[in-house]
Amino acid sequence: MELRARTTSLALAEEFGIARGSRTASPVVRLELEHEGIVGLGEAAPVLYHDESAESALEFLTSGAPAVVGDDPFALEAVEERLEDMGGDSAGKAALDAALHDWIGKRLGVPLWRLLGLSPEAPPTSYTIGIDTLDGTRDRARRARGYSVLKVKVGGTEDLARLEAVREESPVPIRVDANEGWTLESARELLPALVELGVELIEQPFPADDLDGFRALRELSPRPPLVVDEGCHDLRDVAAVAGYADAINVKLAKSGGLREAVRMIHAARALGLGVMIGCMVESQLAVAPAAHIGSLADWVDLDGHLLLAEQPFEGLGLSDGRVVPSDAPGLGVAPA
Ligand code: MG
Repeated sequence: MELRARTTSLALAEEFGIARGSRTASPVVRLELEHEGIVGLGEAAPVLYHDESAESALEFLTSGAPAVVGDDPFALEAVEERLEDMGGDSAGKAALDAALHDWIGKRLGVPLWRLLGLSPEAPPTSYTIGIDTLDGTRDRARRARGYSVLKVKVGGTEDLARLEAVREESPVPIRVDANEGWTLESARELLPALVELGVELIEQPFPADDLDGFRALRELSPRPPLVVDEGCHDLRDVAAVAGYADAINVKLAKSGGLREAVRMIHAARALGLGVMIGCMVESQLAVAPAAHIGSLADWVDLDGHLLLAEQPFEGLGLSDGRVVPSDAPGLGVAPA
């Protein structure tokens, strides 16, 4: 198999703020995997808060992976084991895993959701409203009226006022994501209002290692379910989450690809945990593999491509607020 990887930067349609900071572009690594005349494509955004970068993912794909990827794209388990021994970068692995699945689907002539025995129908995606001023938040909520669920980034100074403004502009379910930006005190103070506003879930309120904070918040009732994102990357993290929260946010860029993501979902189910499927700020090429397994989730958060200024890839649909994977073989996306 021949691997051709490069990094690129995706421009956002507008500035995107979360509790950790704001940005106007998202770096990604992109891969073409060619074998027997078929080209599989993959992309992933690095987990920046884990000290990964597009460059470290590129390094993994150009200097490490080619030596061990082998000559059989169908041998996913064996490829994964050899890559695991290398350690390395989860975004690089996710891009490679996506390209392998794209190659297999194209070789067999079936879309990935069908290859995996799944349905293309998934719950509606949330659309994310980044941290902004009160007026800016109101404006963003107004412009997001076509979506069935809103995810409001919190962890700033005006969380409650912003959430109330979103509620005034939109009747749809609201989720909140603090990206580790709250303290137990701030969460306690906000909780009654969150319940009043009908907030559907709270994602990563506290730093990933503040398990006592999670446990204390979980004792309070009534409250929305607590979802762990930054604190849950791969299968090894899932069992612990059952001890302090209610659900996990599965992202391919964290798990290193589809196979580990599906293992995480099964483990979560065995532990009685809910499942969200999310993404980074990525193009349709990187969101597509997650969309193909969206039917396995309780909550879908696949709006990364919807935040971009341009669509370098196309093939994903958006229908009734749902991200719909294509019927075309493999990932079903191609350069626009
Ligand atoms: Mg999150």
